Parts: sequence; structure tokens; C-alpha cells
Amino acid sequence: MKKPTLRNLTSGLAALPVAMAMVIAVSPNALAAVEKITVFECGQAITSDKSIFSPGIEADVASDIAINCYLITHDKGLMIWDTGLADGLINKPEGVSLAGGKLKIFVKKTLSAQMKEMGIKPDQVKHMAFSHMHPDITGNSSAFTSATWYVQKPEFDAAFSKDPKKYRFNPKTYSGLKNNKTVKLDGKRDVFGDGSVVIMPAPGHTPGSQVLYVELPSGPVILAGDLWAFETNRINKSIPENDFDIEATRKSRVKVEALAKKTGAKIWVMHDPGQNATMAHAPQSMR
Ligand SMILES: [Zn+2]
Repeated sequence: MKKPTLRNLTSGLAALPVAMAMVIAVSPNALAAVEKITVFECGQAITSDKSIFSPGIEADVASDIAINCYLITHDKGLMIWDTGLADGLINKPEGVSLAGGKLKIFVKKTLSAQMKEMGIKPDQVKHMAFSHMHPDITGNSSAFTSATWYVQKPEFDAAFSKDPKKYRFNPKTYSGLKNNKTVKLDGKRDVFGDGSVVIMPAPGHTPGSQVLYVELPSGPVILAGDLWAFETNRINKSIPENDFDIEATRKSRVKVEALAKKTGAKIWVMHDPGQNATMAHAPQSMR
């Protein structure tokens, strides 16, 4: 029998006749409302020193870094999760150096070109949320003017505080959001009301970081943003020194790992170079 998904864990199966409950329990995807997640390459980065993400571990180990964003196709509408580095960086093919030269960022394919390739216009996207508001996540936020923006209240307050730099935010990458319909959250949000796409708070990396639980036809996944920088961080449990609240990161990781275990969800670590495999043929749809 398949593992229970979030929906059939919470949908009151006890109230159904046993036979029907059995059918639903063994075929959770019969209710699936999510058709696919399309993975876009929303930039790339390289580092010469992975230990900037895992203090004391993997010093001077070089790595590619994926920077992906995701379009969720639900039968009630489209949702964008993270918008990557700003498309304008394509005009700097040599890339931009950060972290004292230990990190370099590039954009080789723009998000707008990849969406055009799919025949989707940004204003068709009606829902938008970010794992958090760092500039490699909010770079193209201003493209989605018709989307309702879902944000945890502590993230909103930090982003529009007097000192957003304190959180490593760059208001230029998200100032346009003040024109979007905004829903401030204090916890979970079931975006389409059927349990198939659920925003969950996971603070630590930033004050209001969040993850997205999505039930694909092939089974659930959790889009984990920067809760871990790399898959290796899940193994060595290292936490970047510049996370806003390291203890909160630790607690959020435990909570998200428990959810993955309970539902059988795969955790997608957004920056992990394993996700580079999707880049060669981005946009790529996962069902
Ligand atoms: Zn970040």
C-alpha cells in the first residue's frame, strides 16, 4: 500500500464506508488535481568553497549550484514557486562575483524565454510564493503582476523593514510586489483548498522561510528552498553561519523531514547540483 499523502491523512477517511476508504487509501492520486511541476533554470552559480554553506566541512571543495524555479499546473490555475535570479543578468555573460570571489552567479536562459517556449504568459499565473526573499529567489517577482502573493508575516515585515540588508534581502528585486494582491500568512496555506499544494512555514534561513508540499500524480514532493543548500547538508546536518536563526533552521529541518517520512514525499533541495540534470533540458515537466 502506498504511503498516506497529506490529503488522505487529513480528509477524515473514518467517515467513509470502509470499501471506499480503501480505494482512496490505495489510489491517492485518483484525486490528484496537480498535473505537473515545470522546472525552470532560473540561473546558475558556481562556488570554489562549499564550506561557505557548511561551516568546517568541504572547505575548498568546488561545486555547481542549481538555481531553479517551479511552475505548478493545477486544474484550478497556475502557481509560480520562486522566480530565480533576475533575467537581466543574461546581459552579463561573464557572471557576477559574490562572497569575496567564492561564488559566481550567471543567467544563461531567462525565465521569460522559457515560459514563452511553453506558451505561457506571466499574467496567466494567478498564485505566487517564494521559499524566501533572497535575491536569487525574487529576481523576476515583478513579472507576475496578476498573481496573489502568499508570504509569511515575519518575512514580509523583514523585507519591508528599515534594514532589509540585515536579512540579506535586496528590495530592488521585490519592490514591485507592493502592487500584488498579498496574503500574509501565519502558518500553513492550502493554496487550492484540496490539500494538493500546501505552503508550510519553515523559518530559520530567513525569518519567514517556507516550503511547498505538492502532490504530483507520481507522488508527493516538498520544494525545500534553502532549508538545505545541498543534499550533503541533509547528511552532515551543517547549517550556514549566515542563516538568520540557526536553531530555527534545525527545528524546521526536523519538522520537514518528519512530514516527508509520514507522507512519503521526496524532498527537492533547490540548489543541489543534482538538480542541474534538469537544466540541460529546462523547462522540464515532472508529473
Ligand atoms: Zn537564500
